[in-house]
Amino acid sequence: SSSVVAISPYACQRRTSLNNYNKLFTDAFEVLAENYEMNENKGPYLGFMRAASMIKSLPYAISSMKDLEGLPCLGDQTKAVIEQCCQDTEKSTIKSCINFARSQSIILFTSVFGVGQKTAEKWFRKGLRTFEEVQVHKETKLTKMQIAGFLYYEDLSSFVTKPEADAIGQIIEDTVRLFMPDALVTLTGGFRREKKIGHDVDFLITTPVPGNENGLLEKVIDVLHQQGILLYCDVVESTFDKSRLPSRKVDALDHFQKCFAILKLLKQKVITSNCEEAEEPSNTSTKEWKAIRVDLVITPFDQYAFALLGWTGSRQFERDLRRFATHERKMMLDNHALFDKNK
Ligand code: ATP
Ligand code: MN
Ligand code: MN
Repeated sequence: SSSVVAISPYACQRRTSLNNYNKLFTDAFEVLAENYEMNENKGPYLGFMRAASMIKSLPYAISSMKDLEGLPCLGDQTKAVIEQCCQDTEKSTIKSCINFARSQSIILFTSVFGVGQKTAEKWFRKGLRTFEEVQVHKETKLTKMQIAGFLYYEDLSSFVTKPEADAIGQIIEDTVRLFMPDALVTLTGGFRREKKIGHDVDFLITTPVPGNENGLLEKVIDVLHQQGILLYCDVVESTFDKSRLPSRKVDALDHFQKCFAILKLLKQKVITSNCEEAEEPSNTSTKEWKAIRVDLVITPFDQYAFALLGWTGSRQFERDLRRFATHERKMMLDNHALFDKNK
């Protein structure tokens, strides 16, 4: 092109729309990244994730190696994959490779709520390859989380739609307002980035009066439980320590009180426009409800802005935002604060 606009190596400095012209490449990169992550190979994992993120910001479809000139975040490994994809004119080989990788037991196992890498590997080493084998295997001790993960697997592995997220939002907001009329309930995560589907629904909850957020989560959980719509709930208590500096880890989790839940959403509560209803695939299940993964995060008001920034995602955007703060501004950013290292 005639006007060369340099693309930043930081995701937080790139304008990226949801319109991905290079889905095949980014799918391939993400599945490879996942595979490296499984083998605890952090370098290539980050390399492929970074490349995928950069490619998502391109306003054109890559068709040859020439299209890569001047682009950041690409190394030998990522370029080799792109070259293979470009040569594969039918795209069938690369598509079947992606599907094959996704069907592999370890990745399949970690798709269950509550099953992390360690557990997936342990099951694999025992020779288990399918969900059924895991569940009938005598020695497998499932956690409460994993039991819920298998129980609601079908619902949880089908995507959450925006109308469903809004319906959940209404329930959470109504429940929170019972106790705290001036509380703020904010939809975050992928839906705040205007994604049309998600794997869960994320909310931040805060109140303008400091301290009023204490005890709120317990009350909300209690009401959801009494209404019979709380299918699963794992509360993590706050571990915030004022004396501590922001974490240097780019993937650090935060210290807010939070709860990883599964809610029962009645289908009648989901308001869809007529055209969306017509598009709904014919569902074989006659179930009147759907299990939905919900994350609730309680934040003190003075940390709300940082929490909102941190929970909006994407993961790569957050990683790069922290890298940018550290390397380009000599500051430290996490979900709680922004520190100037010079002061
Ligand atoms: P999806 O549609 O798959 O849910 P998402 O972007 O909403 O996509 P989530 O895993 O729900 O992904 O996380 C949303 C954002 O919140 C992430 O980008 C991450 O930065 C942050 N986040 C997620 N889990 C935690 C956690 N336990 N502690 C701190 N931050 C988290
Ligand atoms: Mn999410
Ligand atoms: Mn989440």
